[in-house]
Amino acid sequence: MDLGIAGRRALVCASSKGLGRACAIALAAEGVHVTLTARGEQALAETAEQIRRSYGVEVRQVVGDITTPQGRAQALEVAGAVDILINNAGGPPPGDFRNWSRDDWIQAIDANMLTPIELIKATVDGMMERGFGRIVNITSAAVKAPIDVLGLSNGARSGLTGFVAGLARKTVRRNVTINNLLPGPFATDRLAAVARGQAAATGVTADEILGRRAAENPAGRFGDPAEFGAACAFLCGASAGFVTGQNIVLDGGAYPGTL
Ligand code: NAP
Repeated sequence: MDLGIAGRRALVCASSKGLGRACAIALAAEGVHVTLTARGEQALAETAEQIRRSYGVEVRQVVGDITTPQGRAQALEVAGAVDILINNAGGPPPGDFRNWSRDDWIQAIDANMLTPIELIKATVDGMMERGFGRIVNITSAAVKAPIDVLGLSNGARSGLTGFVAGLARKTVRRNVTINNLLPGPFATDRLAAVARGQAAATGVTADEILGRRAAENPAGRFGDPAEFGAACAFLCGASAGFVTGQNIVLDGGAYPGTL
């Protein structure tokens, strides 16, 4: 299926690995020119080169922390006027809310709420003037079904979700949509790192923890990042202009509710 976005330009934040990378690949496969960002240079260069070689699109890359004003300014400067913005950053650490200081909260809110809002602020008016824009925020299934140890994530991402719900109804008239993708468990480095952390704390091996978690999912497995990328590309497609302000859960059916 041709999504009708070949030649468009996208800024895909936090995209050297995992879900961000998968979104960049799915967009590039549709002929979208992409700007990638990450803090680590090596994985970013490898992903950029792989996309360039595989899809022949223009790939720009920016090393920097997207959660800082400087990192965002660099990313926006290199990307130029974009038609598509994929907001993503690392998730906050797990823990007990009794141990979190005001600084911990500010850091989580900065990364997972204010950073996407700042990037939307910097790009949405240009998209509206040009009559096309697609913004996708990578949030978490924890927005819909909170995970107690991820309180920082539950709180910060819910703030973003509330903000987006209002704005998405204002921009759609100019063919600019804003939606959130809510990943459940996807097989990425982050998932493996969390399992290694749990293994160290419990004495069970990381492989056992991962095996058990995958088996417990209704799909009997973790999500493949490519499946996430495909959903992201669909939301960015020319024909998806009537979908806005939505929260789409990709979790193999783990969320047990009817709606
Ligand atoms: P991942 O495999 O660890 O990849 C994270 C990517 O983001 C890497 O390219 C990383 O590169 C980059 N990154 C992280 N922090 C950054 C920053 N401050 N500035 C710029 N780049 C940054 O993680 P993932 O699994 O794809 O997760 C992506 C998001 O989805 C996270 O917020 C995570 O909490 C959320 N999520 C994931 C799952 C899952 O199962 N995978 C489930 C629910 C929610 P550098 O480290 O080099 O910067």
